[in-house]
Amino acid sequence: MNNPSGGNSKRNVRSHDRIFNGWRHRNKEAEMSLEAILEENLIKRSQQKKRTSPLNYKERCFVLTNSKLTYYEGRPEKKSKKGSVDVIKIKCVEIVKNDGGFIPCQNKYPFQVVYDSSTLYIFAPNADSRYQWVKNIKEVIKNNHNILTKYHPQFWTEGLYQCCRQTEKLAPGCEEYNLFGDITRKPLPPTPNVKVRPPPPPPPEEEEEEEEEDAGEEVIAVALFDFNATESHDLQLVTGEEYTILEKNDAHWWKARDKYGMEGYIPSNYVAEKKSNNLDQYEWYCRNVIRSKAEQLLKSEDKEGGFMVRDSSQLGLYTVSLYTKFKGDGSSAVRHYHIKETSTFPKQYYLAEKHTFQSIPEMIEYHQHNAAGLVTRLRYPVCPKKKSAPTTAGFSYDKWEINPSELTFMKEVGSGLFGVVRLGKWRAQYKVAIKAIREGAMHEEDFIEEAKVMMRLTYPKLVQLYGVCTKSRPLYIVTEFMDHGCLLNYLRQKRGQFQKDTLLSMCLDVCDGMHYLEGNSFLHRDLAARNCLVNESGDVKVSDFGMARYVLDNQYTSSSGAKFPVKWSPPEVFNYSRFSSKSDVWSFGVLMWEVFTEGKMPFENNTNLEVVTKVTHGERLYRPKLASNSVYQIMKSCWHDKPEGRPTFGDLMQMIGQILEAGD
Ligand code: ADP
Repeated sequence: MNNPSGGNSKRNVRSHDRIFNGWRHRNKEAEMSLEAILEENLIKRSQQKKRTSPLNYKERCFVLTNSKLTYYEGRPEKKSKKGSVDVIKIKCVEIVKNDGGFIPCQNKYPFQVVYDSSTLYIFAPNADSRYQWVKNIKEVIKNNHNILTKYHPQFWTEGLYQCCRQTEKLAPGCEEYNLFGDITRKPLPPTPNVKVRPPPPPPPEEEEEEEEEDAGEEVIAVALFDFNATESHDLQLVTGEEYTILEKNDAHWWKARDKYGMEGYIPSNYVAEKKSNNLDQYEWYCRNVIRSKAEQLLKSEDKEGGFMVRDSSQLGLYTVSLYTKFKGDGSSAVRHYHIKETSTFPKQYYLAEKHTFQSIPEMIEYHQHNAAGLVTRLRYPVCPKKKSAPTTAGFSYDKWEINPSELTFMKEVGSGLFGVVRLGKWRAQYKVAIKAIREGAMHEEDFIEEAKVMMRLTYPKLVQLYGVCTKSRPLYIVTEFMDHGCLLNYLRQKRGQFQKDTLLSMCLDVCDGMHYLEGNSFLHRDLAARNCLVNESGDVKVSDFGMARYVLDNQYTSSSGAKFPVKWSPPEVFNYSRFSSKSDVWSFGVLMWEVFTEGKMPFENNTNLEVVTKVTHGERLYRPKLASNSVYQIMKSCWHDKPEGRPTFGDLMQMIGQILEAGD
């Protein structure tokens, strides 16, 4: 029982008469809030606020009192406090189920403390230590009114919860949480108007100290893009300026303060937290740029030493892509260097073996001045993010209703099941697409209810819903405008002009958007090239997600109807209307086929009924000429007759990414 892992040699528990097996135990009589209930050296994981920020693990001395869970660097007597969480803010404490997954520090017994919109992951040296911490924290939070009903039993890591694969950090839990699982007392009856717990005592002296990146700390973020405040409760952002983040209650709109003391809401995807391990704040970091795109960008800049750091096809790793022109003969090359990590703790980063660094930015800075093994030094950061700002979840915080008098209607760009689509402007400034819903074409009330949810689906590979005009008719749906219109026409119009890896990166864009929907448990139900759109830069985005549910047309909604997308549907959908992320995967395979035939109609010589018979008998679409064997294998994996035999969109991302990375 006593430290069986043997790895916690630096344990720093004060010698005290209440020490038992390394933990200081609760003095039942002493109800003083500042009395330490537990105290032990544990390991704390940094809070991964961005998908790509590398994690680190630091030893901290944790102290639990009735009012706070505090952690210190070294000995608490030295007052080197690094952070603390008010007990009253804790919503859940529980062990983290890790199913034998690799834990990159010597303590192998993780538990989690969920508070506000954050989670602390803490690693205990052995099972008993972890049990004591979880049990004692549960005891002190048992009267909190904000206890979760559901929680996430596994880690948030690499941008998603490992248990349910949701990619929203604030996504609701996926498993029932039992606060009283390990503690003996029953919950008190709900007493919403009575404060059971006295307010926390005034902070002790050391509260004044600067805290680390976590709880109670002042978070500073740098603006990556300009943002024009459109409502009075918003705050203007100027690229490169710093802002204090005050509130993160809404994942998409944070409350912030600028250097003049002005406060308001800002889009969270327009800023990067200023922390040494957050790559987003650096101009050389390009999230979501694949090898072929990197090469294209570096070549078009055509600058000796042009470089970028991008996500590698191996999840969690990074690659430096570097452009060099050979001496005067006009030739050029792009080299790709994986950023390697040592297996030491804490880990170090390097490109060339001899030069290791504590962080990627330090390593990049070094190579900006020294080639040291690279073909040339890193001279010019090249990155697409400098060019265009991402979309926001609506035009402003908490705003989905758009006033139609603020819309300017311009040219008609198309029409579909719901009605006519026009190019337009919002407040004479922002380019938008406006869909006017034809009378009797839509279950309007149901859609309006769902629109609030759909607006919160914000991702670079999804066509953004900005808002709706619901107060008058026709109902208008206002979305991001996509210059090149629908993917199907784009493919047909430019037939013969596409490189194979351009076709594959179009598929990757769609897959990426679908991966985001899958992570948010949101089904598309009608994925096809006609329901994807292409923007000015040739990026493909998924559109019309979930909209099939609001169509009022039997020919479209009934699987025997002429407009039902049978050729994009798996057997469980055309037989039993059983939709799932895996039925979206089937449709994605057909979309890949449309892309690689540059816009052919699947099963073009067959009726819907014939397709049902063929597919039921195991027949599948043929390999398009432009698709390599490995690309065709991916399509076919989507057409497994059983949904459970098909890959997830996460798997598909990996498979497509690997082909692109290998330059197949
Ligand atoms: P519906 O949902 O009514 O079936 P669609 O969404 O398919 O309509 O739109 C019909 C056509 O309008 C599309 O094929 C495309 O050409 C054009 N369109 C739709 N949305 C946009 C947009 N956001 N940007 C540019 N063009 C669009």
